[in-house]
Amino acid sequence: MSTANLTIDLDALVANWRALDAASDGGVETAAVVKANGYGLGAARVSRALARAGARQFFVAVAEEGAAIRDALGPDVAIYVFSGHMAGDTDMISDLGLIPMLNSVEQLLRHFESLPAHPFGIQLDTGMNRLGMEPAEWAAVRDIALAQHPMMIMSHLACADEPNHAMNARQLRAFRQMTDDCGVPRSLSATGGILLGRAFHFDLTRPGIGLYGGAPFAAAKPVVTLDVPVIQTRTVTAGETVGYGNTWTAQTDTQVATVAAGYADGLIRAMGPKGMLFSGRTACKILGRVSMDLITVDITALDEVPKSLSLLGPEQGVDTLAGAAGTIGYEILTSLGGRYNRRYTGG
Ligand SMILES: *Cc1c(COP(=O)(O)O)cnc(C)c1O
Repeated sequence: MSTANLTIDLDALVANWRALDAASDGGVETAAVVKANGYGLGAARVSRALARAGARQFFVAVAEEGAAIRDALGPDVAIYVFSGHMAGDTDMISDLGLIPMLNSVEQLLRHFESLPAHPFGIQLDTGMNRLGMEPAEWAAVRDIALAQHPMMIMSHLACADEPNHAMNARQLRAFRQMTDDCGVPRSLSATGGILLGRAFHFDLTRPGIGLYGGAPFAAAKPVVTLDVPVIQTRTVTAGETVGYGNTWTAQTDTQVATVAAGYADGLIRAMGPKGMLFSGRTACKILGRVSMDLITVDITALDEVPKSLSLLGPEQGVDTLAGAAGTIGYEILTSLGGRYNRRYTGG
């Protein structure tokens, strides 16, 4: 068998949720963001493990994603939808019991007209200019909205992964100005915001990436390991080239292993120039271009040909790999393809 093994450690996931939960006071609830199929790791498995650990509130990006969570967890958890109430979402919101975070006056009117008395939340824009009502819009509709008792009011921080960025305090001030006297539960912080401290926690936090082992939660336990089988090895003599475009030329005789994963598995071509795989603690450089299904690796330093090489594991986490490819851990995780042999441990 030559498919790579992707292992997802549900105990580490749960430990990360507990650690982020413990970072705020007892009165603050910790939700879980499970959008994009649980950051690529499997929304149903991930949300079931988190629900067993005590999570009761879940966030998805779009209404369609709510179905897998409702299926996995049944009727007793709250499922919020960041994109709010779009045209065409009404039946899904109603049938699945989803809570749309209303982002605009248009969504507010759509919701009140099509599903009066159905729970909703409000998303406010405090400066990121992505989703949510701006201060003037909110001022115009807030009395009407508050009269219908929103479940929650939230906003999102643009620079929370940079603790000293002035934007954090600016958004906190804007959020408080817009919500201080609303009497409704509030949420401002994702993973980065939780680490900014108590003033940012309000009533509910919404961690995503930290649960899955990524920065900026530096103390996170790694959740994912990825081992890629070696299919073939050869000696490439000095002067020969490897891979598409002849972009790598051997300066000396080199042992080259070809492993069974590529950009079709989410291992993006940008990993080529600086990327490493590991055999135990020994780093093995990627040679030449990443292909669709294959990567060529320098194993000259190894005493024996290994059965597989590790791309994600104890020697290299998602953020290190992301750094080598010029991207972020979020993108590495959510790009992980559908071809892996996926195995869950713990939970
Ligand atoms: C994705 C997202 C989160 C989770 O963010 P992380 O940085 O992954 O913790 C929280 N809130 C909103 C609005 C999001 O879009």
